[in-house]
Amino acid sequence: MAKIVIAKKVLEANDNIAARIRDRFREGGISAIDIMGSPGSGKTSVIERTIERLKDEIGIAVIGGDLATSLDADRLAKYDIPVVQINTGTCHLTAYMIEQGLEELDLDGVGLLIIENVGNLICPAGFDLGQDRKVLISSVPEGDDKPLKHPLMMRICQAILINKMDLINFVDFDTDKFKRDALNINPEVQFFEVSARIGEGIEDWTNWLRKQMSKDEIKS
Ligand code: MG
Ligand code: ZN
Repeated sequence: MAKIVIAKKVLEANDNIAARIRDRFREGGISAIDIMGSPGSGKTSVIERTIERLKDEIGIAVIGGDLATSLDADRLAKYDIPVVQINTGTCHLTAYMIEQGLEELDLDGVGLLIIENVGNLICPAGFDLGQDRKVLISSVPEGDDKPLKHPLMMRICQAILINKMDLINFVDFDTDKFKRDALNINPEVQFFEVSARIGEGIEDWTNWLRKQMSKDEIKS
């Protein structure tokens, strides 16, 4: 029983910080997305393609969470945008870590903050980071059973990028089943079939993102 009380308090504290971050983003005219997915699903590759498409029209910054190393931040350094890598030491980012990361970022002129969560389909779904939308990267080699196995993740996502579509003929992945199962849990979720490696389908995704971000501006 005590353990349940503590877990609830941790999440409440997280939500309070997330609300503070969200206020700050609204005031600063910043839209934030939390990119989640398994290790190797292609989160960093999707972020790279997204930066390439949008960087000329909007200021972008990245906060990356990884258990260890700065490998992803090193990959993103070539875009000459503000990047902070957080070594979480744990399997998800928390709002507190985002707040710490924001201290290190120059957000002047930034309109889009991309958060790359730790590779994990479980707890990142449970932690509000003050983002405007949560986005799942699910790659076809992982299998089409992810919606059924990770219902919370399905419920809290606004968009799912089905990545590595260039491999679809080499793996058993039923795209229709994946979408059907996800829609059963979250009828609002948007799908984008992409291959971040070769840049396919990225335009549809960034068009959607741009449209969503314009709604954030109206709110503020
Ligand atoms: Mg990565
Ligand atoms: Zn975790």
